[in-house]
Amino acid sequence: MFSSINPYNQQKLKTYRADSSQTIERKLKQADRAFADWSALSIRERTDYLRKVGVYLSMHKQRYAELMTAEMGKTLKEAVAEVEKCAATCTYYADHAEAFLADQSIETDAKHSFITYQPLGPVLAIMPWNFPFWQVMRFAIPGLIAGNVGLLKHASNVFGSALAIEEIFRESGLPEGVFSSLLVDSSAIEGILKDRRVKAVTLTGSERAGASVASIAGSQIKKSVLELGGSDALIVLADADLEKAAEIAVKSRMQNAGQSCIAAKRFIIEKSVKKQFTELVINQISKIKQGDPTDETTTMGPMARLNLADDIERQARESIAKGAKLVAGGKGTGFQRSGCNVAPILLDKVKPGMAAFDEETFGPLAVLIEAKDEADAIRLANQSNFGLGSALWTQDLDKADRLVRQIQAGSVFVNGLMRSDARVPFGGIKTSGFGRELSEVGIKEFVNVKTVWIE
Ligand code: NAP
Repeated sequence: MFSSINPYNQQKLKTYRADSSQTIERKLKQADRAFADWSALSIRERTDYLRKVGVYLSMHKQRYAELMTAEMGKTLKEAVAEVEKCAATCTYYADHAEAFLADQSIETDAKHSFITYQPLGPVLAIMPWNFPFWQVMRFAIPGLIAGNVGLLKHASNVFGSALAIEEIFRESGLPEGVFSSLLVDSSAIEGILKDRRVKAVTLTGSERAGASVASIAGSQIKKSVLELGGSDALIVLADADLEKAAEIAVKSRMQNAGQSCIAAKRFIIEKSVKKQFTELVINQISKIKQGDPTDETTTMGPMARLNLADDIERQARESIAKGAKLVAGGKGTGFQRSGCNVAPILLDKVKPGMAAFDEETFGPLAVLIEAKDEADAIRLANQSNFGLGSALWTQDLDKADRLVRQIQAGSVFVNGLMRSDARVPFGGIKTSGFGRELSEVGIKEFVNVKTVWIE
């Protein structure tokens, strides 16, 4: 049995029975059968279906947003924006998929030679709870348009969202089996991924889960895409627009109660502007209004689970024990916390060797790290096992052009909020994973790039 619990007040919302082995078999069979017909449709026909999904999402955004807020605590405003982003991504791919997947002629000595992009089959998608709709949809929309079918194993605390997403595809008219949710825990993954009908896997989640899933996929010679954690740097150079940088830094770190893979997890600031930037950050943090996520004046809801709130406290406490200074969110080593509701924490004097520097911090914990100069800032930014999405603040765009190439990350956003956008690739390097989602690059992750050569 799985339970979803409202993290704001710890009330149990619903329990779900795990899929039996017969149910799993039925869903695998349906996916396999559905693939034959779905992949035979033209891309135009599939995009028409996905346009309907976008319309359906827009029509029902309030209901789905309320479900997400209840299950994992994001503010209702954030949840509505998440559903809207999914709807917009349906339209984006419906508009562009035909061009992205068109055959490509190549000049050779053959009479005719070209590349054609063909779907692989049922793809298993293992997804996290932090953006319960967006994480799933950013795989499913391009994946389905390319002709694959999807089998979702969602995080166990958001099974209501998993079933809602299945419902969205069904109610939008997609044939049975094109998208199904499996209500299973992670122990069932090995058997499902080893099933001959499942052709590939994508996982968004922790390094631990990624390493396990990729090794099972590897043992079966099946393609995998991994979107894992991050400990991204937000670098503030001396010539930055400090007010704007502080505003966006706090937004990047604290949105979704700090539970975002691409949040600015390490603020790295040049020494000469550190004091001024710190004051601006404290001011921005003081504006955050924590509370009931359904209240429209609330800007930060609870964390999604008690164990996650325990983790963030531990990381802050261990960092303080090694010399970090608590500037906001508590006193000494006591934090302002009630259940999953953790007040934003700000730590100063953070250094390598502390949990807040070395580990991913998945909650409302911002840290200030002083850099001697620009080169030191880049060195500190790269002193991480992760490499997902960094940010750089400087008004000198020539300097930015040089430095973005030195930062070890899948993306670098200059003078703006690091975010995912359907038009550009998203993904990481180092232990943040491999492969890309979104854009033309993302839609080609789960296709057979077939070469055709006609003499
Ligand atoms: P998680 O524990 O790894 O869970 C993610 C998903 O993987 C869940 O569906 C989970 O199922 C499943 N899972 C866990 N262990 C598994 C295993 N050994 N084998 C197969 N599946 C397994 O991660 P989380 O704590 O929910 O999510 C937070 C993490 O996700 C953070 O590290 C965050 O940075 C990362 N993330 C990355 C991105 C990105 O795009 N790069 C985006 C969002 C989040 P159960 O719920 O049943 O355990």
